[in-house]
Amino acid sequence: MAATARTPLISGNWKMNHNHFEAIQTVQKLAYLLHADDYEVVDVSVHPPFTDIRSVQTVLEADETPIRIGAQHCYFEEKGAFTGEVSPAMLAKLNVELVIVGHSERREIFGETDELVNQKVKAVFKHAMTPILCCGETLAEREAGGAEEKVSGQVRAGLAGLSAEQVASMVIAYEPIWAIGTGKTATADDAQAMCKVVRDTVAEVAGEEAATSVRIQYGGSVKGSNAAELMAQPDIDGALVGGASLVAEDFAAIVQYRSHG
Ligand code: PEP
Repeated sequence: MAATARTPLISGNWKMNHNHFEAIQTVQKLAYLLHADDYEVVDVSVHPPFTDIRSVQTVLEADETPIRIGAQHCYFEEKGAFTGEVSPAMLAKLNVELVIVGHSERREIFGETDELVNQKVKAVFKHAMTPILCCGETLAEREAGGAEEKVSGQVRAGLAGLSAEQVASMVIAYEPIWAIGTGKTATADDAQAMCKVVRDTVAEVAGEEAATSVRIQYGGSVKGSNAAELMAQPDIDGALVGGASLVAEDFAAIVQYRSHG
């Protein structure tokens, strides 16, 4: 498939880290470290815990910092008796632009199924936000030769019922579970091969145009030292970063991978 101009998206998933004071400090520092020319070539998002989003929004908007506000997940219903959940409408009201859906921790710890993930993807679109649909195999699945089947199955299920235009506009994060938070990164070749599987699956499900436009992130122990090699791969259009996104300097080094490679 021909390479196209897909602006890379580097997203920081803070998981259950940083209270709202720490969140403010982190985004202020990040805003100081990133410059106008970074935002010209890379889209950047941060995904704080729900309790931080309003604080982060206030700081970013007051300073007109072009870091996009993201969330780590949401429920699919608009409102109602769903104790503890947050709706996409509530996130949209806080100018959240991107919502991670189906992260492996949500799937493994909280039992999110492919069907639930698909409902959430649709709900995020309904509120004019962009889903970052996560997929990825376990080590056992990889060693048994089932990585491609697992990932293409998750992608098919996650995209069910979407229009080709919706698929074209979204983000898919390939995150091998064995590389998340372990310090083990997939080799650039392995990451590229799996991101190609994702793109080929999108082509089958939603057509070539959607596959050419959809942005595919790699996630799994991305750092300043390995970002440039990963980002050089033709089917990798960004990174979903966990641990290294918690420290502004480390995350900035990933965003500025062109000069830190
Ligand atoms: C993640 O949780 O999405 C992730 C990739 O984490 P880490 O960068 O810490 O491996």
